Amino acid sequence: MSEESLRLLPKMDVLLAHPLLAESGAPRSVVLQAARETVDALRAALLRGETAPADANALAAAAAERVRALSAPRPGRVINATGVVLHTNLGRAPLSQAAARAAYEVGRGYCDLEYDAARGQRGSRHAHVEDLVCALTGAEAALALNNNAAAVLLMLAALCRGKRVAVSRGELVEIGGGFRVPDIMAESGAHLVEVGTTNKTRLADYEAAEPEALLKVHTSNYEIVGFTEETPPSALAALAARLGVPFLYDLGSGALSGAYLPTLPEGPTVRSVLAAGADVVCFSGDKLLGGPQAGIALGKKTHIDAMKRHPLARCVRIDKLSLAALEATLRACRDPEEALRENPVLSMLSASAEVLEEKAHALAGRLAAVCGERCAVSVLPTEGQVGGGAMPSVRLPSFAVALTPAETGADALGAVLRAHTPPIVGRIYHGRLLLDVRTVDEADFAEIAAALRASKKNGNQI
Ligand SMILES: *Cc1c(COP(=O)(O)O)cnc(C)c1O
Repeated sequence: MSEESLRLLPKMDVLLAHPLLAESGAPRSVVLQAARETVDALRAALLRGETAPADANALAAAAAERVRALSAPRPGRVINATGVVLHTNLGRAPLSQAAARAAYEVGRGYCDLEYDAARGQRGSRHAHVEDLVCALTGAEAALALNNNAAAVLLMLAALCRGKRVAVSRGELVEIGGGFRVPDIMAESGAHLVEVGTTNKTRLADYEAAEPEALLKVHTSNYEIVGFTEETPPSALAALAARLGVPFLYDLGSGALSGAYLPTLPEGPTVRSVLAAGADVVCFSGDKLLGGPQAGIALGKKTHIDAMKRHPLARCVRIDKLSLAALEATLRACRDPEEALRENPVLSMLSASAEVLEEKAHALAGRLAAVCGERCAVSVLPTEGQVGGGAMPSVRLPSFAVALTPAETGADALGAVLRAHTPPIVGRIYHGRLLLDVRTVDEADFAEIAAALRASKKNGNQI
C-alpha cells in the first residue's frame, strides 16, 4: 500500500512551480533544498506507512515553512523565561544597548582597532580597555582575550611553563565543555602539584610542595560545605611573596566588586582578590560582568606584559566586535548605579521579588486575555538561579506565570512556544508551564501573547 501511495508523490518541478515556492523570494538553492527535504520526509513517512499523501497545497505550505526555517538567522533570538540569568545554552549574558550598539558601529565600517589616529601611527588593540580595567580595579596592567579559558591557558603558558604550580585538591575544577584545570595545566606546559585534600587545604600544604607558582581557582560551580578549610588569598599572597613566586587567581565569574551585585551574598570579587595580593587575576566577560564573551587578565605589569608577548596571545586574542562591546560594558561600570540600570545581567540579578511579582501579574493579565477557559493562568512564586556555573547555591526569589492547559498538557504547550519565532523557553513544573519573569524583558510580553494567540488559531486547546 505504501508503494502504491509513493506514486502519488508530486513531481519536483510541479512543487517548485507552486506560487508559495516560486514567489518565496528566497535564493533558488534554498527553495530547492527545502522542496527536496519536504518530499524526502513525506516519502520516508509513507514508506513507514504513517501518512496519507498530502495534497499539493499542503505540501507546498510545508516546503515554504522549511524555506522560512532555512532563511532564519542562526544563532537566533530566544525569549528566556527560565529564570536562569546566565543561561549557558541561551548565550549567557545579554548585552546592554550600549554594548550591542558599540559592536554594531565598529563592525559596520572601519575602526581604529590597531591605529592611533592622533599620531597617525600603529596603535595597540589592548589599549582600548586596559586603562578602563585598571581604573575600575586598581590593577597595574590588563589584557582582554577571547574568553576566560583562553586567559587561564595563556597565563599558565606565559608564566608557569615547566614550573611546579601548586593547586588545592578542592579546586581542581571542571567548568563544563571539557575545561578541566588539570588538562589546561598540562596543555600550558605547567606542572600541576596537587596540595591538601578535597575539603581542607592549609598554608603548610602549599609550602611543603615547594611551588614555583601558586594558583587559586574559584570553585564557581560547586561548593564544599561541612568540615572544610581553605587558605585565604592574603595568606597565599604572603607565602608567594616570601618564596618569590607568582600568585595567580582564576576567579571565573568575576564581579568587579560588591557594589554591582548589592542583593547577592558576597563572594570574592576582582577588587577584593587584587587587594588581597594576587599577582594576576583572570575572569570571564560574560558572567557576572554582564558583557560579551571575553576573558580579562589583570595584575602586575611584568606578568601582563609577558602574557601580551607570548606567541599564544595571538591565537587567543579578542576580536573587534567583542572588544567594542566589552569596552562599552566596562565604561558603564564607572558608575555602579548606571551599570545596575543599563546592564541587563546586573539589573536582572538585582530585581526584587516585589517588582517581579508585579511584573508577573502584568504578564498573566495579558496572557489570560488570550487563553480561553481551557488554560488556567496564575502567578506563582519560584526560585531563579544566577546560572553560568556562578553562585550555584544562591536561589533568587522570583515569580512566574503558570499556564495549565487542561487538555493539551504542559509539555505540548511548552513545545508549541519553543516552535514559535522567536522560541519562548520556559520550564515544566508539576504539570504546569512556568514562564519566570526575571529573565523576560517587558517588551517581549506582546510576543508571548502573540505566540499563544497563534497556537490557539492553529487549533491547540488552550
Ligand atoms: C567559567 C570559568 C572559566 C571559563 O571561562 P569562559 O569565559 O567560559 O571561557 C574558567 N575558570 C573558572 C573558575 C570559571 O568559572
